[in-house]
Amino acid sequence: SEPILSVRDLRVAFETRRGSLPAIDGVSFDIGRGEILGVVGESGAGKSVTGSAVIGLLDPPGRIVGGEIRLGGERIDTLPPERMRRVRGRRIGMIFQDPLTSLDPLYRVGEQIVETIRTHTDLSARAARTRAIDLLAEVGIPAPERRIDGYPHEFSGGMRQRVVIALALAAEPELIIADEPTTALDVSVQAQVITLLKRLCREHGTAVMLVTHDMGVIAEAADRVAVMYSGRIAEIGPVEAVVRNPRHPYAVGLMGAIPTLTQGSGRLAQIPGAMPRLTAIPPGCAFHPRCPKVFGRCRVDRPEPIRTDAAPARTGSDPASSSPSAVACHLYDPDAADRPAPAGGEP
Ligand code: SF4
Ligand code: MG
Repeated sequence: SEPILSVRDLRVAFETRRGSLPAIDGVSFDIGRGEILGVVGESGAGKSVTGSAVIGLLDPPGRIVGGEIRLGGERIDTLPPERMRRVRGRRIGMIFQDPLTSLDPLYRVGEQIVETIRTHTDLSARAARTRAIDLLAEVGIPAPERRIDGYPHEFSGGMRQRVVIALALAAEPELIIADEPTTALDVSVQAQVITLLKRLCREHGTAVMLVTHDMGVIAEAADRVAVMYSGRIAEIGPVEAVVRNPRHPYAVGLMGAIPTLTQGSGRLAQIPGAMPRLTAIPPGCAFHPRCPKVFGRCRVDRPEPIRTDAAPARTGSDPASSSPSAVACHLYDPDAADRPAPAGGEP
């Protein structure tokens, strides 16, 4: 079926006095109904910028300079700001690291959820309040009929993020963008909140773009994962494949140590070197100065995504909606005569 979110060849530039810097340089992915796509990578890889581009909230000087973003088949990257604002409220929910980005500290949590419900449905005030209590119960807030009248500061960090999830679900959005939703929480409640998000999105059929630097969160929650590096997708595929059998040398490095959520630290494995600055992206493969597998053409040719799954069956369905797996690395180019064998996995 048609994906909920479809991003094609997205390009975002930061317009600066030093010129136009390519923050996102040709990113493509789909997210289906009830599916969670984890987007992972080190700081500066372009994860949050991609999420911000999808919701039309790029911070200046960021600007979309190419590609297409479709929600339910409808182009949204070209909508006027006022219409995009309504799409954000109604069709795309947002969960950020800091719950107070979404919750106004001056209003009772119930008022905020009721307002969202009433903006997007024709429920009466009384029915919306009942619905809000149901949502709070659904996200695991104890005594919701009483807590609905509490203020955000009266909730613990974990409970507050549950309220944000209830608020995000209140408009019954097709898509939720969750950017580091558990990073600020105590380790002991991170797993609970991520498990909750996963269960609710399954039940509601919501597509989720889950941006995180935490491999434990990805392993726990995601159906598929996109590994980003320097504004591009290095590898994308089902989470079991990418986590257990990563192909791209950067992904291999990241998966070096995957702690579980219950162990706490899901920090990415350390790879020697650093993500290049936007002003100094290396030619060829941007990862080549850090890559243990680098060979001749890596320094010259930029690797394009190579499909790693079987080509879609010719059933007349749109091949673009088949959520392809791909790796952008010359080691997997079947036509390259000069490539060394990739270690630990067949190309
Ligand atoms: Fe390493 Fe070359 Fe693959 Fe880049 S293209 S990840 S430098 S082997
Ligand atoms: Mg970020």
